[in-house]
Amino acid sequence: MRTVYLETFGCQMNELDSELVRGHLESLGYRFTDDPARASILLYNTCSVREHAENKAFSRIGLAGVRKREGEDLLVGVLGCMAERDGVDMLRRHPQVDLLCGPGELDKLPALIDNAARAATAESGRRPVEDRVALAGNTSRRTTALAATEDDLESLDLARVFDPDRAAGRTRSAYVRITRGCNKFCTYCVVPHTRGAEVHRPPDGIVEECRRLAASGVAEVTLLGQTVNHYRYTHGVAVTLDGVERPQVGPGLSAFRNEVVDDPSVTTFAKLLARIHDEVPELARIRFLTSYPRDFGDDVLDVMATRPRICRYLHVPAQSGSNRVLKLMNRGYTVEEYLEFVDRVLTRLPDACIAGDIIVGFPTETDEDFEATKDLLRRVPFKNNYIFKYSPRPGTVAIDRFPDDVPEAVKKARNNELLALQAEIGAAVHAGWVGREVDVLVERITDRKSPEARSDADGRVTLGVGLSATATATEAAVQLSGRTPGDLITVFDASDRDQAEALLGTIVRVRIEGSGPLLLRGAMVASTGP
Ligand code: SAM
Ligand code: SF4
Repeated sequence: MRTVYLETFGCQMNELDSELVRGHLESLGYRFTDDPARASILLYNTCSVREHAENKAFSRIGLAGVRKREGEDLLVGVLGCMAERDGVDMLRRHPQVDLLCGPGELDKLPALIDNAARAATAESGRRPVEDRVALAGNTSRRTTALAATEDDLESLDLARVFDPDRAAGRTRSAYVRITRGCNKFCTYCVVPHTRGAEVHRPPDGIVEECRRLAASGVAEVTLLGQTVNHYRYTHGVAVTLDGVERPQVGPGLSAFRNEVVDDPSVTTFAKLLARIHDEVPELARIRFLTSYPRDFGDDVLDVMATRPRICRYLHVPAQSGSNRVLKLMNRGYTVEEYLEFVDRVLTRLPDACIAGDIIVGFPTETDEDFEATKDLLRRVPFKNNYIFKYSPRPGTVAIDRFPDDVPEAVKKARNNELLALQAEIGAAVHAGWVGREVDVLVERITDRKSPEARSDADGRVTLGVGLSATATATEAAVQLSGRTPGDLITVFDASDRDQAEALLGTIVRVRIEGSGPLLLRGAMVASTGP
């Protein structure tokens, strides 16, 4: 059996897709390696959200082409959003690519690999395109209602095998998808085009997956969806002949104008959260990503306020602080509505931590618009914001309607200015935790020389330099890092390597003694389980 190298670009959704693909292929006997040079199957799970992510993937595909031209027997597969967006055009422009598999078709990947391998041994010349691609195609939105009920991807989610020893840093943390796709159509965004219409998984399947994950050692689940608070499953609609509920297409946005809290035939996001909390008590933490600032009902906040294991952390992107720009983005809310939402959150959950995303340099963004965004940042205690320069994406409304007229130098300057402002705001938010005790789910052993966290162009947080607190550790001490329920990165020392190893994946009570713009530093008080 051949050895596979799988590289993932972009967001958490892609990380989960890759985990599922890996589990599926491993169950069929494929072996995986972290070293592309040792693999004969190279798979790239790609992201199209920004050009930067696409360029990185294209550079890997280029290198694979060089190896093939030098005579290596390699099979190259492009998975995810770039495959869906570029379609068969990618096969023409990059002949080294053997197969394409869109994000909604990942269950078909083993068949595509089989086809490619068989064609290579048969030396039967160029294979028909149908054998090489599994894409939803541009008919996906029309056919989704039907496809959702025949959804094989659901089985991929349900069949997952979680191996805590393989999870990065033995985090005992797992993603669980609750919805796929998106119905929002923000004008800058490719997601509704590449991932299709919003499809909601049946709540029983989600709860069952959480239960299985907990049984295999997972302490924390993060529920994933592009707009998780739009989760809404209507029972009795999408049922198979044997009575099993199937995924169903989400309602239109207008559905969220009416509260359905008490309708027993509907599972809302609030009810789903409550079910997971109450029915899977073995889970120490339940989190969710990403929330859409509008349509976030008080019912969700009430569930969060009364269920202690639901993390008081909200990733709720504002995108801009200018009403004019928000309108061009088709975000569907005003700055005032965003502030009202934050107010509701902090009134009910005063210790909640809020994070977001901002796009700078959206077409026509003026200095005045940018000042309004800075103003929004000053008014909300964001623990962090991922700040992106606008990247025109083929297929979106924005690229067709609005010229990309903010010069790159201005985008860059605004990006840097916002990063500096966010660093000040983040420093104040983190400083507010000094003197308190927090529970930290320990994720990894970190390098003491570089204890500050920072986020890269893809919005991932990594550890870098610049923490203000002084290290008081002894030579033997080993630094650990993890996260609080509010997602605040926290570093502290274990007495030695053995203790550090033993604490990985456990929850530790830490007294906070210092802070920086993106993290807390403290001292261990006790290990509280699980
Ligand atoms: N569904 C989430 C929401 O609506 O907030 C976000 C999903 S999107 C994949 C992640 C982030 O990428 C967005 O919040 C946005 O800030 C950023 N993004 C999306 N399209 C972009 C574009 N064309 N240029 C720059 N940033 C973009
Ligand atoms: Fe993209 Fe908007 Fe959907 Fe988020 S809500 S995935 S930004 S279209």
